[in-house]
Parts: sequence; C-alpha cells; structure tokens
Amino acid sequence: MGTAHPPWDVVVLGAGAAGLYAGIEAARRGRRCLVIDGARKPGEKIRISGGGRCNVTNLNVARATIPERFLSRNPRFALSALSRHTARDFLARFEAAGLSWTEKALGQLFCATFARDVVAWLVRDLAAAGATLRLGTVVHGVEGAGPFTVRTDGGDMAAARVIVATGGLSIPKMGATDIGYRIARAHGVPLTDTRPALVPLTFAGAPLEEMAALAGTAVEGAVACGRARFRDGLLFTHRGLSGPSVLQASSYWREGEAVAIDLAAGAEVGASLAAERRRAGRVAPATALARLVPERVARAAVARAGLRGTLADQGNAALARLNAAVHDWQVVPQGTEGYRTAEVTLGGVDTDALDPRTMEARAVPGLHFVGEVVDVTGWLGGYNFQWAWSSGWVAGQSV
Ligand SMILES: Cc1cc2nc3c(=O)[nH]c(=O)nc-3n(C[C@H](O)[C@H](O)[C@H](O)COP(=O)(O)OP(=O)(O)OC[C@H]3O[C@@H](n4cnc5c(N)ncnc54)[C@H](O)[C@@H]3O)c2cc1C
Repeated sequence: MGTAHPPWDVVVLGAGAAGLYAGIEAARRGRRCLVIDGARKPGEKIRISGGGRCNVTNLNVARATIPERFLSRNPRFALSALSRHTARDFLARFEAAGLSWTEKALGQLFCATFARDVVAWLVRDLAAAGATLRLGTVVHGVEGAGPFTVRTDGGDMAAARVIVATGGLSIPKMGATDIGYRIARAHGVPLTDTRPALVPLTFAGAPLEEMAALAGTAVEGAVACGRARFRDGLLFTHRGLSGPSVLQASSYWREGEAVAIDLAAGAEVGASLAAERRRAGRVAPATALARLVPERVARAAVARAGLRGTLADQGNAALARLNAAVHDWQVVPQGTEGYRTAEVTLGGVDTDALDPRTMEARAVPGLHFVGEVVDVTGWLGGYNFQWAWSSGWVAGQSV
C-alpha cells in the first residue's frame, strides 16, 4: 500500500488517556495530528475505570511523594512531567470543561458523573483542536527514522513524528497489545521486564482453603511486602486475596516472596483479648475476636492458631499465637490473576532511553513514548491516569 501524502506532523498511536491528551496538545500547537486506535471506541479504559466513575487523579501527587508512588527503575524519571503538568493543571482543564469531581479517601478524585463523560470531553477537545481521530485501525509497526512510516491494517501513514501511547498488556480483552514494546525493540529502545501489577494475588493449599471459605468478606486489613505496607483494606476471593491493600502490594511482590497479612489493622488483638480474659474468661476466643474482625474471619484465625476451649483456658503463648494469626499472617502467594484482571503493567520502555522533558527516545529523534507503555507505574488511586495526562502533555508540547 502506498504512503499517504502529505505526511502528518504527528501521528499518535493509541487513543487512550495518554494518546488523547498528547493529541490535543499537539493539535492545539498547530500540528497536523492524527490519532489512531485499533479499538472501535476511544478511551475504553477510561470508561471502565474506577467502577465507571474514573479516578482521574490524586491530590497527593507531589514532588516528595512521586519517587515512592510511581514505580520505575529510575524513580525520579516521572518528576519532570508530573511537575510540569500537575494534578491541579489537569483539574483546571477538567473543570473548565464543565466536569466536576468528588474526593474519596487518600486524595483520590473521581469524576462526579460518569467516566464516559471524561472520554467525551477528551474526544471533543481533540476535534476542537483540529486533530483527526481514526478508530478501528490496528497498528502493526513503525519504520524509518523521521519521516516515519506507520504500518496499519488500514494502510501506511507517513509522519514526521510519532507518539507511541499504546498502553500496557493488561486486559487483553479490551484491545491491549504489545505493539508499543515491539516498536521500541525495532528501534533499539531498551525495555525493562514487564509483569502484571495492581492485580489480585492467588494462593494454593491451606491458605487458599481458608481464603476461599471467606470469599466475599472484606476486612480493614493491611498487607506488607518487603518494606512496602498498605493499609487500605482487603477482600477474600475464591482464588485468594484482592482489595486495595492487596492490589497495591502486588506491584512490589515477586515470585516466592511471602506477604504479611494484618486482618485487623489498627486493632490490638493480643492486648484486647488479654483484657477480655481477665474480664469474662468464659467466652470463646472467636466470640471475643469477633468484636474486632468479622465473625467468620475470627473463627478462621482461631482455628489456624490452634486455640481450643474458652479464653480463660488460653495461656499467654496461645494469645500471642492468635495475635500473630490476625496481625501477621505470613503467606506465600502462588501467583497473581495475571493480565486478565491486572489494572496496569509494571515495567516497559526503559526510562533511561527517554528524555523526561519530552518523552522522546534519546537515540531516535521524533519517536516518543507516553503513558503506561513506559516503565512508570503509579500506585492505585488516580496516579496512573495522572501519569498518562502528564506524560502525554509534555510530549504534545514538544512535537
Ligand atoms: C479496570 C481498570 C480500572 C482502572 N482504574 C483506574 C483509575 O480509576 N485511576 C487510574 O489512575 N488508573 C486506573 N487504571 C489504569 C489506567 O486505566 C491506565 O494506567 C491508563 O489507561 C493508561 O493510559 P494509556 O493511554 O497509556 O493506555 P490505554 O488507556 O491502555 O490506551 C492504549 C490504547 O492503545 C490502543 N492500542 C493498543 N494496541 C494497539 C494497536 N496495535 N493498534 C492500535 N491501537 C492499539 C488501545 O486500544 C487503547 O485504546 C485502571 C485500569 C483498569 C484495567
């Protein structure tokens, strides 16, 4: 197939959060800009995010928190883009478009209406800026070195510059592909290892038996993995554990490592039960514990700690065992639920190969990578969309 003429100033690959945002910026700066996506609708991940409400950003994205909350081989890489287009900058645009937000815990800002309104706004702004959006067009590769040839199933397109915003591998059912990584590899841009993140953990054997029996129960729990500890609640599932603390910890977990589960974060089970033993020793340990955790969880913890009889029958060692069974349940996950349910992909285009001010590949002038395809992965809670907005914005400003 022949190459289209004249060439586009900028072709953006992927009409997700990062690609739409980059396209808007590029087109507003007068660039002839084409945004391509293989899906039939743009911004599908925005639409399904945050339970249909889209957690658009987080108020705690700040210089001091960025190196901790955006995982990357180079934890300082994201500072530049996130400082140049901040959560406040994003919100100013969001509000100017007539959208409003509500704050949930931990600085998480959700769209006050529906996530689809966020998509509609971005698509509207993209058109108003004069960019062209071409959907249902699958990208197969990018060749050349400025001008580039973008190979698609709808023909070839010539572009002075290309912004790769094709996302990660999570949720293949929604059109996730590895094309961004393949483009990087083809141009000699290095990658870091990729793995599913913000994903439920799966278990086998005795831990799974206990977890599956509690499936559907949520506790105000915490999960620690190495030095990372999250206290945002957890949920038992038929395959193991989910819920915010678990999803967060999954980004830090590696095969073979144990995680420490606290089923009653904030409570002091040992001290409470010792006091209860003095006060009303005839009560069953599970009954006393059920004041601090759901009853089914209490029974399971008592069984695991091997306690029999009443509270009065328990010595200090038995109470210490129960305390540990609740506050420090050490379990080794079998794995994760994988890309099928992972919210994001950890790893990707190596940040050492990119200029943090422009997201351009240092060795390939004119080829930019933005959003999730890059080795920058945020915490749960709006951090990943903020990375998409900020990285898209800086690339759009520089092309
Ligand atoms: C269920 C779920 C809920 C989430 N909730 C939140 C949340 O509330 N807050 C938050 O901050 N983050 C959330 N995330 C993470 C967030 O959605 C991503 O980090 C973000 O969408 C990444 O944006 P992106 O533009 O880089 O990639 P994507 O949004 O994945 O966009 C990539 C685009 O590229 C297209 N594409 C891929 N391959 C090709 C190809 N070969 N040819 C053409 N087009 C292609 C895809 O169709 C897609 O439209 C959630 C993720 C999931 C899965």
